[in-house]
Amino acid sequence: MHVPAPRGASLAGLLLLACGLAACAAPRPAQDSFIALEPPVQSPPGDASAAERLDWWEAQLPRLSSDDRLEARLCMGELYLELRRPEEARYAFYEVLGASVSAREQARAERGLGLSEFLDGQPQRGLSHLENSLRGLEAPAAEEVRFLIATVRGRASEADAGLIARMDPYLKPAGLLAAAPMAAAASKGSLADVSRTQWKAQAMRANHDPMSKPYRLTVHHTAEPLESDALASSCAEVRHIQSMHVQQGWADVGYHFFIDRAGRILEGRSLDAQGAHAGNSDANRGNVGIALLGNFVPQPSRGPAYAKAQVPTTAQMQALDRLTDALVARYNISTREIWAHEHFRETECPGPQLRGWADARRAGRRSAGTSAANAASGK
Ligand SMILES: [Zn+2]
Repeated sequence: MHVPAPRGASLAGLLLLACGLAACAAPRPAQDSFIALEPPVQSPPGDASAAERLDWWEAQLPRLSSDDRLEARLCMGELYLELRRPEEARYAFYEVLGASVSAREQARAERGLGLSEFLDGQPQRGLSHLENSLRGLEAPAAEEVRFLIATVRGRASEADAGLIARMDPYLKPAGLLAAAPMAAAASKGSLADVSRTQWKAQAMRANHDPMSKPYRLTVHHTAEPLESDALASSCAEVRHIQSMHVQQGWADVGYHFFIDRAGRILEGRSLDAQGAHAGNSDANRGNVGIALLGNFVPQPSRGPAYAKAQVPTTAQMQALDRLTDALVARYNISTREIWAHEHFRETECPGPQLRGWADARRAGRRSAGTSAANAASGK
């Protein structure tokens, strides 16, 4: 993605500019009706920063033909967006719209004008520009624009975390993060250390219920033995669990959070969606599901790998306390609503250490689970 876009690059490629993913394309050579008289214009270096590319274009402007100048101004407008300079971006895009340009170039300019209003905190003013831009945009830019329009109108439904993350620079100044579904988990990022994008989650499917206000939380183990505390192993494990849950027909991984052996909190199902972890729908209502990676109950029937129980690590227990404290504070959850899975149905999940932890937290104590884990692991 850091290769300079070639001459005549696809529109989609050009539009990646605003995301900072590619160097700006050089102006298209004059085609069809006449032959360019100027020597070809070079692209700015692919590894140059947005500010350096902007300077590079600025220096080129005086020697560009009028067609090439318009292409350059489009590129500059997109770089101004990337640098959060909406007013200068608007000057550039209006210059393009004021000339007679192709439908694709008009669409880029209209899109840029719309985005500049988001940067200025005026998303309503950007709406008509975004709508105009749809006449000439292709995926993925068209998908991004449709998502922004729906979010402004309060009608956004599903959006994958990657799309929200790409649009975050525009949603945030426009005050629209809360309106974007899943944006809370994907973009605030305050509760999880590892986002769904980072562990390469599949997008959530539609067959889920919305989450009512969280008022309780439930701790689980994932029941899969895992020794490693490397981030790559944790991400692979969570992807594996997600695919098992999706294969059994669920919309997504059932839990809202995972905690790995190193104490990292990984983002699971969005907190906007009811989980699938505690039991039936009644049990899942308003119930935040937290799963610690590892098998804390021996399951000899699943073969030798499962025969021996593991113990949560100290880092895992500390992260569980940290996450619980954050959830309790954010949603005003009563400490009397901190549960182990076995409270809701007959199961050995999550094992004795975590059951002890939940019992202690419910009784207003906080260290029993941690010290039990420490004692059991000899730390
Ligand atoms: Zn469980």
